Amino acid sequence: MAICRFSPQSDVFVTLEENGVLECAACRLNNRGVFSTPIRAEMVTHLKKHLAAGHKVPSEAIEELAHAPKW
Ligand SMILES: [Zn+2]
Repeated sequence: MAICRFSPQSDVFVTLEENGVLECAACRLNNRGVFSTPIRAEMVTHLKKHLAAGHKVPSEAIEELAHAPKW
């Protein structure tokens, strides 16, 4: 399931894998590698680092991670 995809409004591609792990694919903070964590709060922190680096992250993606029910 994609939380957000690359688009003119998004420099990140975040997915929720079937095993419950969140992945930031082709991560610009990680040399185009993958950042993964099973902890939603950690992914929120990660996305905020993208914002701090000047990357575009849809606010809906952060809200979804911050407010969605426990997976
Ligand atoms: Zn990332």
